[in-house]
Amino acid sequence: MDDKLMLMIPGPTPVPEKVLLALAKHPIGHRSGEFSSIMAEVTQNLKWLHQTKNDVLTLTVSGTGAMEAGIINFLSPGDRVLVGCNGKFGDRWALMSAAFGLAVEKITAEWGKPLDTEQFREKLVADTNKQIKAVIITHSETSTGVLNDLETINRHVKEHGTALMIVDAVTSLGAVNLPVDAWGLDVVASGSQKGYMVPPGLGFVAVSPKAWEAYQTAKLPRFYLDLGSYKKAAAKNSNPFTPPVNLVIALQVALGMMQAEGLDSIFCRHQRLTRATREAAKALGLPLFAPDEAASPAVTSVAPVSVEAEQIRAIMKKRFDIALAGGQDHLKGKIFRIGHLGFVSDRDILTAIGSLEATLRELGDESLAQGAGVAAAARVFAES
Ligand SMILES: *Cc1c(COP(=O)(O)O)cnc(C)c1O
Repeated sequence: MDDKLMLMIPGPTPVPEKVLLALAKHPIGHRSGEFSSIMAEVTQNLKWLHQTKNDVLTLTVSGTGAMEAGIINFLSPGDRVLVGCNGKFGDRWALMSAAFGLAVEKITAEWGKPLDTEQFREKLVADTNKQIKAVIITHSETSTGVLNDLETINRHVKEHGTALMIVDAVTSLGAVNLPVDAWGLDVVASGSQKGYMVPPGLGFVAVSPKAWEAYQTAKLPRFYLDLGSYKKAAAKNSNPFTPPVNLVIALQVALGMMQAEGLDSIFCRHQRLTRATREAAKALGLPLFAPDEAASPAVTSVAPVSVEAEQIRAIMKKRFDIALAGGQDHLKGKIFRIGHLGFVSDRDILTAIGSLEATLRELGDESLAQGAGVAAAARVFAES
């Protein structure tokens, strides 16, 4: 059956019809009064979502562009940075930092395990002459389904006093509590196709006053992603360059939906979806790749033993038109990932788990207790 795709990957995520309809409108002028008032509302609501009074700037980039803006605006060639690496996106931070000539020191953990916060503390405490200019981590490591302990790492950064805390919050923002001001996060990057329920194309960077201070002396070249020009334009509810007008209007609708649901409800829903997915996998005897205590609210990684991950994905797509994500790099073929980020409801999880059970049966998984996954998920929904 046509036009029945169910997107269960951790980005792009499903888009509500209201948001899609906003995209179908005729563009309006980006210097018009009408667009300025949309920008004003969007900026206000972005601050609400980030729980901050800091600037939250909107860029025409994917998430990686927002990350790049978070590097080039606040650092200089040769700056020493600590980068947390326990997955594809942590590695991306390290590659990007190296590409811009920063002195990268990686703090690594095995893929599927959270970063060890003690290792950050030790490095930061040892740095008595304050050479570490930034600590850079991925909050929710989408490639493995691990949620890193940002709160603790950030506390060590605050005790250091000098280093900036730079965060990839691409799959944590809008899924789990991320109080930018209460924690004092300096640079927070995210992208529209994840928790925002908007198609790809917009990136966001929240910038603290301390980061703006660093901006004054930062020496890496910048032009299109010079956040100073976005800040200046934002003061007049404008943009330095032509923004994707329709995406911004779509974002206005999506943020309105998020406000109507409320931050706490959004976080609870993601927690519930995560728990239901994980309990279902356990009930089906499918090993989870990330531990319960460091489970990403956006994506659950499953490492099947008796059936092949890629076969499961292929049948889920072919028979049920459900798109699951595969493993990246050395995890290719070893895991599959169920996205439950953004516009995802309890019903979606029941559908996905039920289809997963049918898929496993089709693949002849003998160990399968038919119905156990759906029952486990339903139990979680009944409890919460
Ligand atoms: C999706 C994602 C990004 C951004 O990827 P783009 O393809 O550039 O949008 C960055 N970090 C994480 C953790 C992500 O999940």
